[in-house]
Amino acid sequence: MSSIDANAPTGFSTGSSIDATTSIHRGSHDVAKLLADLAAVAPQAHPVQNQSVESKHENQLAVVRLGMATSLYSSLRAKHPPTASHSLRVALVCAAWCDRLNFGQEERDRLEVAAFLHDIGKIGIPDQILRKPGKLTLEEQLTVSLSPQLGCEILRGCCNDEELLEVILHAPSWFSGRRDQLKSGDAIPKGSRMLAVADAFDAMTTDHVYRPAMSREAAMSQLLNNSGTQFDPELVQDFCAMMQHEPELAHRHVLSRWLEFPAGQSADSRWAIQPNAGIDNESTLGKDQWRFHESLLGNMNDGVIYVDRNGTIQGWNYSLEKLTGIAPGAVLTSSWSPGLLGLSDDEGDVADAQCPVRRCLANASHVSGRYSIRRHDGITIPIRVHVAPVAAGQPGLCGVIFIAQDASQQRNLEERVEELHQQATQDPLTRVANRAAFDIRVEELVKRRVDSGSSFSLIICDIDHFKRVNDVHGHLAGDDALVSFATILSANSREGDLVSRYGGEEFVILSPDCDIATATRRAEIMRFAVESTPLPAIGNHPITASFGVTEVQAGDSPDSVLARADRALLQAKDKGRNRVIQLGIGGGDDTDLATTKRRRGLWSWFDSSADPTNMTVEIITPVPVNFAIEKLRGFIADHKAEIVSVSEGNLQIRQNVYFGPSGRRSVDSQISFSVRLMLTEKAFATGPDNRRVNQVQTLVKVEMMPTRSRDRRRQEVTSCAQQIIMSLKSYLMGRIETELV
Ligand code: GH3
Ligand code: MG
Ligand code: MG
Repeated sequence: MSSIDANAPTGFSTGSSIDATTSIHRGSHDVAKLLADLAAVAPQAHPVQNQSVESKHENQLAVVRLGMATSLYSSLRAKHPPTASHSLRVALVCAAWCDRLNFGQEERDRLEVAAFLHDIGKIGIPDQILRKPGKLTLEEQLTVSLSPQLGCEILRGCCNDEELLEVILHAPSWFSGRRDQLKSGDAIPKGSRMLAVADAFDAMTTDHVYRPAMSREAAMSQLLNNSGTQFDPELVQDFCAMMQHEPELAHRHVLSRWLEFPAGQSADSRWAIQPNAGIDNESTLGKDQWRFHESLLGNMNDGVIYVDRNGTIQGWNYSLEKLTGIAPGAVLTSSWSPGLLGLSDDEGDVADAQCPVRRCLANASHVSGRYSIRRHDGITIPIRVHVAPVAAGQPGLCGVIFIAQDASQQRNLEERVEELHQQATQDPLTRVANRAAFDIRVEELVKRRVDSGSSFSLIICDIDHFKRVNDVHGHLAGDDALVSFATILSANSREGDLVSRYGGEEFVILSPDCDIATATRRAEIMRFAVESTPLPAIGNHPITASFGVTEVQAGDSPDSVLARADRALLQAKDKGRNRVIQLGIGGGDDTDLATTKRRRGLWSWFDSSADPTNMTVEIITPVPVNFAIEKLRGFIADHKAEIVSVSEGNLQIRQNVYFGPSGRRSVDSQISFSVRLMLTEKAFATGPDNRRVNQVQTLVKVEMMPTRSRDRRRQEVTSCAQQIIMSLKSYLMGRIETELV
């Protein structure tokens, strides 16, 4: 089962346009205009459309819904317009859904705002990741996965609604729970569970630079496929029901509700910076009014200048003073000029007529861009500038607001994300990947094998008698040896391989698209390089290491691949160390089952009957019974199966199988099977290709049933049973002969 990544960069591939004439004023005129626009669009306001009503009025809707937090949204839009448009659409869908579910006003408002700002953490994600056309690498995925936490960190500074932060923080949580996840199931706030569904749906139905949009039906079926694991099943049902029945009507209703939103404080109640009076209706912002705004803006992180329509500076906030070193007293009531800030762009100093303030005053439209300012002490600071027209209810402008964000700080944030990411994925001593990164990658590779059949090999190695190295040369020298060992492994691995420190002096190498023979040769090269490299830290002696190699095979889980390689490593140790041992047949295919199913309806057993009972499969393996038993021992060890009873030719085991994307090792996502294996040796007269052979083969009759006789998770039971059969077939190197129901 695949997961849906709503956290990947989202939005239109062509970018969205922002209504240039929108001002922060709104009134009934706007509502009428918006509804007229809505009526003009095709019956289905599909989010894939490049120029939806929402995107045209994005700025206006943000101002209405977010109040003073609009600047946050503006920053996101400046950083990555598609993500901002995506957030708006998710907010609108959540709003419609809240109406449908009869949410109370407070709860509804909270979810709407949370949806609006759920991706604000993307501000801290490097541009090259957000705009990358191809699939993200593991590291990049991890970086993106930090964005909800980052978003909460950003919001915590200005938001006094703890529950809103919770909604955003837990939105990426899987309903069934995952490793390192704080909450699962109903403990995840309902808003987060809803947001997860709406977010994923929008991400899937939108064009991306890395993949085209899916149809709504395909997206709904993805949601349903992942319900119960990634998503809350009840909510998915309800969401799909909503999407099937005229979602555009609900949409329209929300838009008109938003635009009728009471003016003034209501949108601002959850923000820590509170205005103590409503906005009055003066046509210009006089000094008194500016004083009020000054107290409001004094706390803002961004530098703000207010220039009235005559070009006179009427406001200059504290952050701007910090940024420029110029106190308000020195500039207030003087005429605006870009020279005051030493404003320059890529081409040098910005001329007065070309500066963003003059352009905004002349055209009454938003201007934004990257500039630098030159402080009086000569230091140049990169800034992001947004200039917006300010109207006050009457025709014409009363002035413009100039917002400057310190872009060097943003770089720091990006650096911090990078640092956090490294901490999360890298072993600090040897600088190779850590175990967490290995776990993620191996799951990815197993899943990729199931989806596309592409293989991978796994090499595990462990330094021989490392304890002695520590005992003789000391722990620090031991550390040095570990670093050298990791360097040798990295130097001898291919690009695309993941070298990771699994723990202590044990390392694992994952080699995509590499068969067991090639991986074994590579391990041999590594082994040889280790034994031939003198290490200065331990008196120029070399160390040696033992290696276990395997290739993924049909029916494998991440655990079983690793366990098989580990078994190979143990054998290498047992056989005297400093050697490479391989185990497993590698490759393997899952096609038998599909053919058998078509032929005999093998799995119809689960599809139709009321209760899963038991099933029987026969596997023929071309080896004598004692060999077959040896193979089964490997299967039992690698799958951590429990032996229940053994008698002549009969073996009863109990095995837990995890379903869904592996890694979620919760009791809820495992099914326990009772498996009975009956072995009989047969001299077969004919081989599979009907040639006469005279060979001893073993017939393994497998009877399986879930230990919980009324297990209702049919689909999962079937896929787990399939996994057991495929794995048994791989270990026995056999073929499926017959199945009896
Ligand atoms: P074998 O050949 O069977 O693997 O023997 P061994 O001595 O290598 O294995 P054992 O598991 O008995 O000992 C592993 C040693 O590795 C013990 C532990 O102190 C050492 N070790 C684990 N992590 C570190 C580390 O980060 N630095 C150092 N210097 N030593 C470590
Ligand atoms: Mg060791
Ligand atoms: Mg060890």
